[in-house]
Amino acid sequence: MTTHTTRMLIIGSGPAGLTAAIYGARAGLAPIVVQGLQPGGQLTITTDVENYPGFRDVIQGPWLMAEMQAQAEHVGTRMMWDTITEVEIDNGPPFRAIGDSGDDYVAEVLVIATGAQAKWLGVPGEQALAGKGVSACATCDGFFYRGKKVAVIGGGNTAVEEALYLTNHSDDVTLIHRRGELRAEKILQDRLFAHPKISVVWNRRVEEFLGDPQAGGLTGLRLADTQTGAMSTFACEGAFVAIGHAPSTELFIDKLDMDESGYLVVEPGTPKTSHPGVFACGDVMDHTYRQAVTAAGTGCMAALDAERFLATREHARNAAAQAAE
Ligand SMILES: Cc1cc2nc3c(=O)[nH]c(=O)nc-3n(C[C@H](O)[C@H](O)[C@H](O)COP(=O)(O)OP(=O)(O)OC[C@H]3O[C@@H](n4cnc5c(N)ncnc54)[C@H](O)[C@@H]3O)c2cc1C
Repeated sequence: MTTHTTRMLIIGSGPAGLTAAIYGARAGLAPIVVQGLQPGGQLTITTDVENYPGFRDVIQGPWLMAEMQAQAEHVGTRMMWDTITEVEIDNGPPFRAIGDSGDDYVAEVLVIATGAQAKWLGVPGEQALAGKGVSACATCDGFFYRGKKVAVIGGGNTAVEEALYLTNHSDDVTLIHRRGELRAEKILQDRLFAHPKISVVWNRRVEEFLGDPQAGGLTGLRLADTQTGAMSTFACEGAFVAIGHAPSTELFIDKLDMDESGYLVVEPGTPKTSHPGVFACGDVMDHTYRQAVTAAGTGCMAALDAERFLATREHARNAAAQAAE
């Protein structure tokens, strides 16, 4: 077992964690990034990215994350192949995190960038056709379905928002819901029902995503009527699963404030969590935007605020030492 000591420990290696690392390293904090089970984060499981600023041509998600990591390492970040299994926050700083490897990490500031995972239905065809007609993010992928027939699966706010967003690209959007009424807020439902490009299919559960990942991708959905059990096929070229996200925050239960969905709560407009010296950035604290560029933006904010936190502590320590002389 090795103890790694650093001024700034970053948990997570998606756009939020790596941007925090770039800023932290450039401020001389020699950060350590613990990468977790998905080095590079969610963008490594997608292909085309067309909305990250700075690239006129379509780029690939894994390539973008490899570039971000190379930049972070180039300016002085240490990347660790490890997953944090426990954190000690209460009496920090210093904070201590224990890795799956048996190593532990001691840091003056902690940046949490553990992201959030889209929830999937877990039915046949879903993962094989992910990125080939099946998506969990209309803002990310809606553009690729312009002029095509698309379905959105879900009944809450996210599903309704995704359906409304997709009307920017498609004239034929169908919301498919397993119940006979929506959970979404009334104002969103009113907009949905009034929209001429959106129709709703009630009481249908998706049993399977149909199509060939190697040839043309998604062709439709196999649906079960939740009242009669009757099976049917719904033809579409794009299907957006919109049944919510799960933030990766189990480590911080009873240690940091969270909202009712498990997202870390931060001081509004800042990355400051409920514990001084602990900062959160990216999807783990943002259930609204969930984009690579917003994750990178809040990663930058976390590093800048972490640096200010350290400078203030140092200043106070020096002042106390001088007063004692
Ligand atoms: C299929 C798909 C396509 C997308 N397309 C786009 C797009 O085109 N444009 C766009 O802007 N956004 C897109 N997004 C959204 C974008 O990927 C996310 O908003 C962004 O990745 C969030 O960044 P993050 O750094 O907050 O978290 P993530 O990217 O989720 O990274 C989280 C990191 O935390 C690590 N981690 C978690 N737990 C631990 C632990 N215990 N110990 C150590 N590490 C841990 C993980 O290994 C991972 O490295 C897409 C998302 C998906 C799923």
